[in-house]
Amino acid sequence: MYNAKQIGLALASVLSWLLFSDTPNDPEGYVQDASNIRTEYDFIIIGAGSAGAVIANRLSENADWNILLLEAGGDESIVGQIPANAFALQLTNVDWQYETQPQDNACQSYKDKRCNWPRGKMLGGSSSINSMLYVRGNKRDYDKWKNDGNVGWGYDDVLPYFLKSEDNQNPFLAGTKYHNKGGLLTVGESGFRTPLGTAFIQGGVEMGYEHRDYNGEFQTGFGFAQGTVRRGSRCSTSKAFLRPARNRKNLHVSMHSRVSKILIDPDTKVATGVRFEKHGHIYVVQATKEVVLSAGAIASPQILMLSGVGPAAHLTEKGITPILDQPYVGENLNDHVGLIGIVFLIDKPFSLLTTRLMNLPTLLNYALFRGTPLSMISGVEGLAFVKSKYADDDDDWPDVQLHFGPGSDISDDGATNRRIHGYTDEVWNEYYKPILNRDSWTILPLFLRPKSRGTILLNSKDPHDKPLINPNYFSDPDDLKITVESVKIALALSKTDALQKLGSRLYDKPFPGCENQPLWTDAYWECWIKSASFTLGHSVGTCKMGPDSDPTAVVTPELKFRGIENLRVADTSIMPSLPSGNTNAPTIMVGEKASDLIKNTWKEASVESSRADTMFLGREFGLALISLISGFLFSDNRSNPEGYVRDTSAIRSEYDFIIIGAGSAGAVIANRLTEIDGWNVLLLEAGEDESITGQIPLFAASLQLTDVDWQYKTEPQANACQGYVNQK
Ligand SMILES: Cc1cc2nc3c(=O)[nH]c(=O)nc-3n(C[C@H](O)[C@H](O)[C@H](O)COP(=O)(O)OP(=O)(O)OC[C@H]3O[C@@H](n4cnc5c(N)ncnc54)[C@H](O)[C@@H]3O)c2cc1C
Repeated sequence: MYNAKQIGLALASVLSWLLFSDTPNDPEGYVQDASNIRTEYDFIIIGAGSAGAVIANRLSENADWNILLLEAGGDESIVGQIPANAFALQLTNVDWQYETQPQDNACQSYKDKRCNWPRGKMLGGSSSINSMLYVRGNKRDYDKWKNDGNVGWGYDDVLPYFLKSEDNQNPFLAGTKYHNKGGLLTVGESGFRTPLGTAFIQGGVEMGYEHRDYNGEFQTGFGFAQGTVRRGSRCSTSKAFLRPARNRKNLHVSMHSRVSKILIDPDTKVATGVRFEKHGHIYVVQATKEVVLSAGAIASPQILMLSGVGPAAHLTEKGITPILDQPYVGENLNDHVGLIGIVFLIDKPFSLLTTRLMNLPTLLNYALFRGTPLSMISGVEGLAFVKSKYADDDDDWPDVQLHFGPGSDISDDGATNRRIHGYTDEVWNEYYKPILNRDSWTILPLFLRPKSRGTILLNSKDPHDKPLINPNYFSDPDDLKITVESVKIALALSKTDALQKLGSRLYDKPFPGCENQPLWTDAYWECWIKSASFTLGHSVGTCKMGPDSDPTAVVTPELKFRGIENLRVADTSIMPSLPSGNTNAPTIMVGEKASDLIKNTWKEASVESSRADTMFLGREFGLALISLISGFLFSDNRSNPEGYVRDTSAIRSEYDFIIIGAGSAGAVIANRLTEIDGWNVLLLEAGEDESITGQIPLFAASLQLTDVDWQYKTEPQANACQGYVNQK
């Protein structure tokens, strides 16, 4: 049976769908799934997430380039459009539903000591399942990347890319040099405020912090949440970047297309294409320029390892033949982890309670005007970037982030938060149930620059098998120490006049499993943090970017894969370390910058090739001329009865006969079999159409050792070839 909340949300979704942004006729109409996949594209992008969608848009701006964007999931979900309902998609089929390996120092109160790790599996990737908070991180983060040798990644280098995407709806922010209007990604604030949100900001000011735009000149301070929202609903990267490009003829978006392997020539170490599965059929498609891997910090290293690129011993153990031993693929995993579920009770009826929100006036108001509590960005009203006692007082580089919500895990009638946070029945019934639906607020505190590092490894060589995710939370003791401080800052905030006026008090029942610790001591907080640890979904670093001098770097600062040609990685996995904030906006920035890096590479290449073209002289020139004349006057023009064979762009999943090789025998067989009506024949040829140059009988040999010749050589011969190089 459906409960009131589910019916209400479904109703609001349908109304929102009918009235606003999500109908097929809308200017932002849906992306179409490519039905005719060609055999070859200039670029193949794996993953239509926060980075991949941006790259697909930017590369397809060049009409001369053909782009294939492959996404394992389908289109984004209508249900996930309502900001206050952001969490509802977790643990559904648009979530990869990963979980961590059992943790020693975290996730202790969850089943098997594993934390859930949600990830979006649809167009927009995790930007379609995330909490929509728009945070760029701190200048120092990017300057550190640059100082570590990543040329072009300092704050001054990346700011233009943040601005390029942005269309900020707040005129006060849009007018500053740190924000922009007119970009593809809509950034705004909730159209609804609670008295609790105002008290949060006032409390911060009482503590000596500024009320400020934390994406502006300085980060330290308190501010209302900024989010990737458009007209009161989610603005995923699918909405922002794919929908406007959906009518481009040179962009094919193929959904439900799960890549199992990047094809890499084991001898030349060149990435040549991909293999993927769609609706039960296997496709192999070539990339003539580059394969761009944007499957995120979990799937990108997984796909690399499945392709034979990664720690050789681990690959061999899983039955995969290594093509390149790259021990740092899947290493350096870092993530933001905080304490979930603190409840501060209040005396006023100000919280966002499901029982208060789910009524027709609120839903209609949301559908028509977007200004109701449902527009509250994932239920987070304010953010603060503050300093623990370990941070440098004089530097604008806060080490703690607070997510403030005018409600808590007890506010949704036990429907969503309980499920996605993974509380056991014992914890729920003992700790939360007695205060269900009371007015409250919460803070999710965390340490911004954790030092613990984990790994992604394969469970098996089956591409459908989930990888082994081990974030190693709190393996570095400093991480726990500073997280404890972050909880103490949240408690101090609750004691400010602004929040006291609302009767704020910590719900002080000891957390189950921590009753034996002396209450309110560091040991008690440590126990609770280790029990109710919560990922922010900010995993980064598993294909780390770094300069030549860094042996642990997997990609170069141009995001080129070290040791493999024509392969680039562009998503959160390239980040050497976490930015001090949420990671969606930084990933979109990575997508924007990667697009320019790719464009620059191939602009240079086309300049090179046109230079080479002008050097086309002498014999080749003469031959080309004769061939052209021969083509025009005689046998090789396209209107000739012997006109050219056309390359099939639409390969079906099934034929009666498949002939491999269009040579002397294969061409005959293809002709003869297709004489039978009703038989479907696929003729596969590794090369292209025959060369005009080779048409002139006298110059028959001129095609040898060109690219229409396989250029084989014999092994060195004892009784022949003695006059040739190496007797071959
Ligand atoms: C629950 C949650 C809440 C979050 N909240 C916020 C927030 O409020 N603010 C914020 O800034 N950040 C937030 N984040 C983090 C942010 O959304 C991510 O860091 C960011 O979206 C990652 O982008 P990406 O491009 O690296 O990967 P993704 O966006 O995850 O994209 C990867 C894409 O690749 C596809 N894919 C994977 N494997 C394959 C395959 N084999 N074949 C084809 N396609 C494949 C996936 O389906 C996906 O679409 C949150 C994350 C989560 C999970």
